[in-house]
Amino acid sequence: MNLVLMGLPGAGKGTQAEKIVEKYNIPHISTGDMFRAAIKEGTELGLQAKSFMDKGALVPDEVTIGIVKDRLSKDDCEKGFLLDGFPRTVAQAAALDEMLSELSRPIDYVINVDVDQDILMERLTGRRICKECGATYHLVFNPPAQEGVCTRCGGELYQRADDNAETVQNRLEVNLAQTKPLLSFYEDKGTLRNINGQQDINVVFEDIEKLLGGL
Ligand SMILES: [Zn+2]
Repeated sequence: MNLVLMGLPGAGKGTQAEKIVEKYNIPHISTGDMFRAAIKEGTELGLQAKSFMDKGALVPDEVTIGIVKDRLSKDDCEKGFLLDGFPRTVAQAAALDEMLSELSRPIDYVINVDVDQDILMERLTGRRICKECGATYHLVFNPPAQEGVCTRCGGELYQRADDNAETVQNRLEVNLAQTKPLLSFYEDKGTLRNINGQQDINVVFEDIEKLLGGL
């Protein structure tokens, strides 16, 4: 069960990742975790990655790909893996294909948790935080009893700058531009499976289970 998980911010990818690794008992391989582990173990590639990150620079593809290859060669990936946050570019996707064919572990499915942009906007801009106690609310999913007022302490609610419409729109567009060519790449390969992420979390997971049941 060799899987890649994709989805825009707010699509619920993290939640589905947790459910997949729990049910199918495969390692969840996120780019961040992989980098941290390689740096902690002090591997050659880990140290190289660290030198770029310390400078605030992007880690070059060849280093990232090397770290992914080391990780996917470990024993716990023999039964499968869930890649999350990698690949980010078509060049990385092509390199991944090559390394997986060397390991004789081709990708079975690229699962894309698909949610319309207007719904992502609603999800991502709805967060409100209490100025006094830090309690968090969501206008749609967890609204306060009275608009603009903390239910717990009566404090005033505010929206973080990161959550405002313009910033979120920007972030989504950058992500979308990055994701589109990747989705076409995997569509051409025949491994892309779109899952409707606009349903209840559990229904989204049932759809993923149906897909994976066929493997
Ligand atoms: Zn409060």
